[in-house]
This record gives sequence, structure tokens and C-alpha cells, in this order.
Amino acid sequence: MEKIKNQKSKIKIKKGDKVRILLGKDRGKEGTVEYVMGKKGKVFVGGVNIYKRHVKKMGNIEGGIIDIPKPVNISNVALICPNCKKVTRVGYKVEKTGKVRICKKCKKEVK
Ligand SMILES: [Zn+2]
Repeated sequence: MEKIKNQKSKIKIKKGDKVRILLGKDRGKEGTVEYVMGKKGKVFVGGVNIYKRHVKKMGNIEGGIIDIPKPVNISNVALICPNCKKVTRVGYKVEKTGKVRICKKCKKEVK
């Protein structure tokens, strides 16, 4: 079992964010976050970290090679700011309407 670090740290990435992979076999690839596993600190990124697996024929299901997406540690992805298109860190700003995420580079709100 892998230890979960920084459990207290808030998840700053959310579904629909465009991210770049910083580590692992898909380093440098970009994709959109499809699912966030908050408790595990992992995210599924579309088209990234796909593993091939051979499956045996079972009943009506044809065997063959299927693609299995695996989650990526949140610490291994970086947000791509939709405003300035740069890889950035996420900050927070308190507005009248509540807390909003901001890009630390251009200081604009990241929705
Ligand atoms: Zn920005």
C-alpha cells in the first residue's frame, strides 16, 4: 500500500481542468481531468496513463486487448491556466461570492 501524503492539503484540481503530466510514462502530455479521487489524491486524466491489458474471453465478452486508464497522483499534474495557457500553480482569492481559484501567474480567476 502506498502511503498518502499531505492528506490535509486541499485538492486544487477539479473535473474539467486542463492539466499537464509532470512525471511518469506520460510526462509532458496534456489532458482534461475526468474524475478526481479526492481521498486518494489522484485524478483520472483523459487519454493519459492508459495501460493495455489482455483479457480472456468470458461468456459473451470477446477477449483481446483493452485500454485501462489509471489514475495519476495529483502531485504529478500541473494545471494549465485557461487564461494565459501556461502551466501554473493554483492560488485562492476571497471574493464577495466566496473563494475563487486564481492562476498564480496571470492572477486571473480559474473557473
Ligand atoms: Zn494564468
